[in-house]
Amino acid sequence: MFKKLKKFFYLYILKKKYYRVGSCKACGRCCQKIYVKHKNVIQTEEEFKKLQKLHPFYTYLKIIDKDETGLVFECMNLDKETHKCKIHKKRPGICRRYPQEELFMMGGTLAENCGYRLEPIESFDEVFQKVSKKINKNKKAGHKTNL
Ligand code: SF4
Ligand code: SF4
Repeated sequence: MFKKLKKFFYLYILKKKYYRVGSCKACGRCCQKIYVKHKNVIQTEEEFKKLQKLHPFYTYLKIIDKDETGLVFECMNLDKETHKCKIHKKRPGICRRYPQEELFMMGGTLAENCGYRLEPIESFDEVFQKVSKKINKNKKAGHKTNL
């Protein structure tokens, strides 16, 4: 019962497609190669400067590179020797919630050897059955379908 409620909550209230499972191994990799998305992935220093006024998290970041996705940042709160966050207890929500599925939508992936995984809430079979049902329903109603 709890599983069903959880699934409903994630799918229909939070509108999520993945569960985050696993735990953090405190490797610090996700704090070292960061893309920032605000409407679009940040591409220029000017865009980034404007963004820094909006949320303190962005003031922790420093530009270290640029690639085909956008500017690449690292967080200055990461202790490079211990790989620990210097403000762990006060770290922003965005860090507490990492990794989120939006990462995939920006073309990103999980940091190598991250202790978390993102697992689909619905299995392939469940999605397939849902789509099939919809197609059959549309056929019965005489609607055209794009699938
Ligand atoms: S604030 Fe801490 S957890 Fe968040 S990106 Fe920086 S070092 Fe990582
Ligand atoms: S990459 Fe994954 S395991 Fe490593 S610090 Fe980030 S969340 Fe934790």
